Amino acid sequence: MTKVFNFSAGPAVLPRAVLEQAREELVDWHGSGMSVMEMSHRGKEFMGIAEQAERDLRALLGIPATYKVLFLQGGASMQFSMVPMNLLRGKASADYINTGEWSKKAIKEAARFGRVNVAASSEASKFTTVPPRGEWRLDPDAAYVHYTPNETIGGVEFPDIPDVGRVALVADMSSTLLSRPIDVSRFGLIYAGAQKNIGPAGLTIVIVREDLVGQALPGTPAMLDYRIHADNDSMYNTPPVYAWYIAGLVFGWLKSIGGLPAIAEINRRKAQKLYDHIDSSSGFYRNPVDRHCRSWMNVPFTLIDPALDDAFLKGAKAAGLLQLKGHRSVGGMRASIYNAMSEEGIDALISYMQEFVREKG
Ligand SMILES: *Cc1c(COP(=O)(O)O)cnc(C)c1O
Repeated sequence: MTKVFNFSAGPAVLPRAVLEQAREELVDWHGSGMSVMEMSHRGKEFMGIAEQAERDLRALLGIPATYKVLFLQGGASMQFSMVPMNLLRGKASADYINTGEWSKKAIKEAARFGRVNVAASSEASKFTTVPPRGEWRLDPDAAYVHYTPNETIGGVEFPDIPDVGRVALVADMSSTLLSRPIDVSRFGLIYAGAQKNIGPAGLTIVIVREDLVGQALPGTPAMLDYRIHADNDSMYNTPPVYAWYIAGLVFGWLKSIGGLPAIAEINRRKAQKLYDHIDSSSGFYRNPVDRHCRSWMNVPFTLIDPALDDAFLKGAKAAGLLQLKGHRSVGGMRASIYNAMSEEGIDALISYMQEFVREKG
């Protein structure tokens, strides 16, 4: 098999060990004679898989017992609606922090259900930084504060969890959950589409403090009500069984390599190496993001002359370095270096970047 490194922003690379285990178990899971795709979600085999996945996720993140863990569908984009529908709880407005394209989408959707107060924005800097906490104009009566800890497109990541006092903090962690340890108890709700750093597309993880569940807007459809999913252990309807199973394998893989402290150390090293290389390229490569809030997971960079982009991508592909093209809204390149991207992949990318400068610089 050809060796490649896949830098896709999502759906993204999965750990090789997970794919191999899935292949082993594909046709006949643990002697059941069935594939996980073919099992009743209410049978004892799948119930075991589902419970193990939740236990492992709770252990990895240290999720307190007072939080529900939901395995849903609809992607992070559906959470843009479910969050206001469930968390406004009769209040007039919610606070949102605008740090990029995903924040903007969340804001647009929330505005259908209530008043959105954009309490801070980094739009004036073209989203190359995060607004300092001291400048946020939070409303003490807000239903919640929503922010995007890692903006996947802009490559901007909050270096720490902002203090918002007693108001519930809600985070779209689609592209950062499981990249490092976090204190879940600081949040009211965390959500993440799986296809960046967790598993296959089709699964969405929601971690929600129990007291926030059960006050959905009148008329909320059952499928959009956290209480319905929580009361039914995420099996109100048929869950995405295969995606849930693969996510479980990813959690097992993370545990086997030492959990989130271990992966955080690797991720920090990977990102540092790549940014150091970009910064020391005498301007041939450039990342526009303020150093203190550069993403560990998504590294956008431009070339000194955009006319070189096509040649860069073509040579990269020939070298087995795939899906480096930047998001259409920003151009240039983007290397997404999630948990499953090995340090070897970073080294291969850096060697190619050096070689390209030698040829074209
Ligand atoms: C990818 C992404 C989304 C959208 O996820 P879907 O699962 O496609 O709905 C939302 N927010 C962030 C931060 C993302 O990275």
